[in-house]
Amino acid sequence: MNSLDVIEQDTFISAATPLLNLITHITGLKTSFITTIDWQTQQQTVVIAQNTGSLHIETGSQVAWTDSMCQLMLSEQLTATTEIQLRFPNSGGALQGMQSFVVLPIKIADQMIGTLCGASDDKVELDVHHIKSLGYIADALALQLKLTIDARNAQAKVDSLRDQIENLATLANTDPLTGLLNRRAFQHRYEFAIKLSKRTKQPLSVMMIDIDGFKQFNDEFGHETGDAVIKIVGDGLKHIARSTDIPCRVGGDEFILAALNTDSEGLTQLAERLCEYVKQHSDKLQRSCSISIGIASSTHGAAEELIRFADEALYMSKAGGRDAISVYQPD
Ligand code: GH3
Ligand code: MG
Repeated sequence: MNSLDVIEQDTFISAATPLLNLITHITGLKTSFITTIDWQTQQQTVVIAQNTGSLHIETGSQVAWTDSMCQLMLSEQLTATTEIQLRFPNSGGALQGMQSFVVLPIKIADQMIGTLCGASDDKVELDVHHIKSLGYIADALALQLKLTIDARNAQAKVDSLRDQIENLATLANTDPLTGLLNRRAFQHRYEFAIKLSKRTKQPLSVMMIDIDGFKQFNDEFGHETGDAVIKIVGDGLKHIARSTDIPCRVGGDEFILAALNTDSEGLTQLAERLCEYVKQHSDKLQRSCSISIGIASSTHGAAEELIRFADEALYMSKAGGRDAISVYQPD
């Protein structure tokens, strides 16, 4: 977790602010602040600071751990000093005018994740009771930081699981070659379209599409080229479909498109555009391909039978010599 993330946590700020006030109150130090340390980047960040005197430690400011006052103090096993100017004359703190400095590690499971600090431009002597009190405050902050980090990690896990579920749902509903809906997902949306069509009395139309002579095309040019044709038909369907239409690869070289609020004339126009699209785009392959289409509209009968009717119309297109569009006509 990035230290700046901690700053964004209102709960952490709300918990830390009174504790920083308490430090000023019990020690007389004019500045108190909390830092986090990112051990990977070796950066220390001030996550919250309270300044009541002329020293100014800025929330959000960063320093390389090797240059930090905390590191200087801890490397000399110092918790508190009033001798900053003498001991560390070239340090950032000394240059800012600090005389006193106190640092307590904030640890989670023995790992230092940050520091609790106090500073002043005057000499503020701290006794063992002060240091002990600051230690308790550092422990309270460690717990609060751990809760904040745990909450953030839990949220990240929930987000990642939700993404995985969404990806799985997309995979389960999608034909991988064309990116169209698969038969299962089509069925689900088609049933809803039937209900909507019945309730709103809008026409519902269906077209069944099958590639002509696809077996031979595969045999002649190989499966990869065959797949390219299937993709072209899939792209063509996406190209002609409106957002309310339901295009699907049923399997093999067979496709279906259901269109709400569309009659057989409307769908015939779409079918013509699809035939043209497939011819044009497959022209770039070894040989251009044609498709046969069968169309049925809910005005022909019960919506539930549409697919069977469209299939019968497709059979008529095939029987009539292929590369054709037929509309189902009831006897
Ligand atoms: P028709 O004009 O009567 O439709 O003749 P056809 O050769 O297209 O006959 P049919 O529709 O029965 O052929 C389907 C062929 O599609 C059979 C199978 O080898 C091939 N096929 C099925 N799935 C795939 C696929 O994912 N990729 C490829 N390349 N071929 C497939
Ligand atoms: Mg075919």
